[in-house]
Amino acid sequence: MSKKILIMLGPAGSGKSTQDKLIENEFGYKPFIMGDILREEVKKGTTLGKRIHALIKDGHLVTLEMASDLIFDKVKKSKAKKIIMDGFPREFYQSVVFDYFIKTNNYKLMGVIHLNLSRNESIKRLLNRKRHDDEIKAINQRLDDYHKITIKAIEKYRIEKKLIEINGEQTIENVFKEIKTKLQKIKGI
Ligand code: AMP
Repeated sequence: MSKKILIMLGPAGSGKSTQDKLIENEFGYKPFIMGDILREEVKKGTTLGKRIHALIKDGHLVTLEMASDLIFDKVKKSKAKKIIMDGFPREFYQSVVFDYFIKTNNYKLMGVIHLNLSRNESIKRLLNRKRHDDEIKAINQRLDDYHKITIKAIEKYRIEKKLIEINGEQTIENVFKEIKTKLQKIKGI
């Protein structure tokens, strides 16, 4: 069964999950959130879950294999025909593997939404959250990963003309307005 795929990219604190939900309501794309899928596995207490926990707790990325095996399996098994990926791909090589996954399954990448947010604004927003993994060290690690690693996947999609640039420093409503206007221009969305 063919599926239409959107990718949501943006640093921690950019409001990705909020926009996922708005996009789901408006366009019917079901969110697949990598962080949630990993945390689910940790909760199960499996051997894999324990290995994931050891990496996540210090803000490190899990291996390509751990991330892709888990999320590809979920996407394939899902009945959803429209999917928005959040948190995967997160680095260049993941984006290459994801391209291959899309191609071999006859899915279609409709676009890659990029919520642009400065590092300072990300830190400001994250410090306002009261989640225990949002310690300063982990916040910095996540933002470093984003600005050094994820940026390479973003550049790849920019070159391929798949990137939909969004100003993430606006209100939730205005961020969504910009996303909506830009998505509506995509044929077959
Ligand atoms: P998040 O909820 O997106 O902040 O993800 C929580 C943690 O899961 C991250 O800090 C990483 O350790 C890990 N993680 C999430 N997505 C990925 C990914 N695509 N590749 C590797 N590790 C990931």
